[in-house]
Amino acid sequence: MVAGSSLLPPPADALPYASIPSLVDAHLQGRTTVLATVQSCFDGIAAKDAGTHAVVSLFRDAALQQAAAWDARLEGDQRAARSLPLLGLPVLVKDNIAVQGGRLQCGSRILEGYECPFDATVVSRLRQAGAILVGYTNMDEFAMGSSCERSCYGATLNPYDSLRVPGGSSGGGAAATALGLTTVSLGSDTGGSVRQPASYCNVFGFKPSYGAVSRFGLVAFGSSLDQIGPFARSMDDLISLFKVVHGPDDRDATTRPCYAEGVLHAGLSVHNQEGPALVDLPRLRVGVPRNLIQRVASSEVWASFLSFIDSLAEQGCQLIDVEMPFLDAALPTYYLLSSAEASSNLARFDGLKYGRRVDAEDREMSVKLARSQGFGEEVKRRICLGTFALSSGYYDAYYGKAMLVRRHLRQGYEREFQRCDVILSPTTPSVAFRRGENLSDAVKMYANDVLTIPPSLAGIPALSMPVGGAGLPVGMQVVAPLFRDGFLLALGSTLESLELCGVRGIAGAVMRGGRS
Ligand code: GLN
Repeated sequence: MVAGSSLLPPPADALPYASIPSLVDAHLQGRTTVLATVQSCFDGIAAKDAGTHAVVSLFRDAALQQAAAWDARLEGDQRAARSLPLLGLPVLVKDNIAVQGGRLQCGSRILEGYECPFDATVVSRLRQAGAILVGYTNMDEFAMGSSCERSCYGATLNPYDSLRVPGGSSGGGAAATALGLTTVSLGSDTGGSVRQPASYCNVFGFKPSYGAVSRFGLVAFGSSLDQIGPFARSMDDLISLFKVVHGPDDRDATTRPCYAEGVLHAGLSVHNQEGPALVDLPRLRVGVPRNLIQRVASSEVWASFLSFIDSLAEQGCQLIDVEMPFLDAALPTYYLLSSAEASSNLARFDGLKYGRRVDAEDREMSVKLARSQGFGEEVKRRICLGTFALSSGYYDAYYGKAMLVRRHLRQGYEREFQRCDVILSPTTPSVAFRRGENLSDAVKMYANDVLTIPPSLAGIPALSMPVGGAGLPVGMQVVAPLFRDGFLLALGSTLESLELCGVRGIAGAVMRGGRS
């Protein structure tokens, strides 16, 4: 069976949406105004999001003003606008990405009342490309979580089944994209927070190579792991967004170029005049860590995985068994390192510099109260764990050892990538779990990330692609060598064009009744 035959349609209340090029074109041709597009985006959120709760705050006035300004410019000289790839595109971003004037809260009480004074680099790039920032999407507090239940705004629900979680921490962005509230959105991924919700909500989600996208203006969780990544319902849209936000930035010294050279990896991909680059599948060597997956995957996800690799084989791909040494150690290594970094990064939230201040007899008590009232349970757990791991006398035993494992894991990937071009697995061991199911058991919640964390520790790019499933969405994760982001995206487009992955029905929806 071809995996494509079981692709899920979008959720019942998804809005028809316009692909990025069709929307931009509609604005340029005057078939619709930017103001109408942005207004209908707000209407859509008001009408469709009440039951899902994906969006937590809106930038209504600023967005409508910018939309009107674009329309005025378009009435005059269109030349400047013609080259703008995202002209008039409404975009939602996660509540941890700085948008000037936005009520940035990272899903946390401690930032209540904070108004952000500047734009993240990704946000200024979106604006320069003509996009309009419309609001913030829900997330687990400070991006710690896998279910989008740990937010001061309350939980986001899975658009395919409201009794289930949308995944996390960027669950709001995945749900909003699945519902078509905006065509694309941005999340952040430290150990799976874009890919896991993308897989639970039947959309594409991409974690770029570490250093591909600037982190300037992203509220840090685990600085050596964090990356901003896009959600989309088609690879074309995902690539359009990624092309705008990626690339070197003077304000983040870890950034470097990754797109153009990446597309041409190993001579396997060809540029295509008409559309995105495509990959020559019969020459593609796909690494499959079969034993590992069989051990962790539910029967449902395992069945989807087998059918997916069968269809890759039918396309002529070479399947190669790979082992991933040190993989068992990845989960504890990640939780130790990310918590250590978080305990240091979150020290700045003291109720004095940002957000909600608590008055007390002295400064120390005020900080103590602000932090104990402002942070939720999971954030406190991570701060305690991280502080412990970094404390003198324990540093070598925990942090030092975890860094060593991280290095071995990275080398393990490098070795495997000499035998294969990409490594494939499901994105998550199971489909979306029920709300409340893992809340009382942190370790069970963490176990969700077993397949997304290894590429994060190695810093390499990973794409989650929707492949349908028997009832609830299932995602497949493809991982490529460092900075082969362009190649990985070309592979995603190729598989989508063969209907081996994708969100069925969307193309039809665009034709019939998109906002354009
Ligand atoms: N679920 C993981 C965690 O809780 C990953 C979170 C993320 O990628 N931001 O840390």
